[in-house]
Amino acid sequence: MKTRLFDLGGRVAIVTGGNGGIGLGLARGLADAGANIAIVGRNETKSKAAVNDLAARGVKAASVVADVTDKEAVARMVERVAAEFGRIDILINNAGINVRKPPHALAIEEWESVIDTNLTSAFLCSKAVYPAMKAAKGGKIINIGSMMSIFGASFTPAYAASKGGIVQFTRACACAWASDNIQANAILPGWIDTDLIERARAEVSGLNERVLARTPAARWGTIDDFAGIAVFLSSAASDFVTGAAIPVDGGFSVMG
Ligand code: NDP
Repeated sequence: MKTRLFDLGGRVAIVTGGNGGIGLGLARGLADAGANIAIVGRNETKSKAAVNDLAARGVKAASVVADVTDKEAVARMVERVAAEFGRIDILINNAGINVRKPPHALAIEEWESVIDTNLTSAFLCSKAVYPAMKAAKGGKIINIGSMMSIFGASFTPAYAASKGGIVQFTRACACAWASDNIQANAILPGWIDTDLIERARAEVSGLNERVLARTPAARWGTIDDFAGIAVFLSSAASDFVTGAAIPVDGGFSVMG
């Protein structure tokens, strides 16, 4: 039988922060390849619109309202997805926030909220889906890093720590769960035009010009740029790819 490498028909994916931005771009890619999708976020209005967008692509889509920093809420979310969809094949840990301040101006509460949202949530969600993936004899975990997984910036101490941490967490999961046929990989987005960046543009002067000058592709990324990598890392096409951190950045990370 010919293997259909990129076919996700019948697969079930959880996408945290899937109700907008990069998460929605990833979710649309998976839906177009046939996967059914549960999106997780706090904003019900945004989530409803995203569910309609995904369902219009001919797959089953549902929203689960949950705060991914809350251990109990994550456990309930995973139980609900397993009950409603019957299986869990793919987890994308994408929910994220930023607080832009230098280290000396950052409050401990701000540090904790960034680390909890961007890093601890990935641990909670990955641990919660592991039993279902192990029982199904395979799964795909995709964690969203950043250029701040590689580089430093004076105004991102907690964000950079969380995104560096997400790459190392990905590698640990890849090693721990390879024998369960679970692949864990990270995507490192470059500068992508989303709500998160709208605030950055307002807070960091000259950002637009600097991003355009520093990116070999000479443009901002769009959420559509994430459909292909989502399908690759969620499908049989990547069955021997694990522990990788793949930039999707128009060349930003290789520009000398
Ligand atoms: P958005 O602000 O557009 O989306 C963030 C998403 O995270 C929202 O859907 C939000 O949903 C969700 N979210 C935030 N906190 C929580 C929480 N506690 N519980 C559940 N959901 C939560 O940002 P982007 O699309 O730009 O970012 C997505 C990911 O990509 C993040 O991890 C970010 O760090 C990363 N990234 C983005 C880059 C960019 O240039 N845009 C560059 C590099 C990395 P809701 O509000 O409903 O809770």
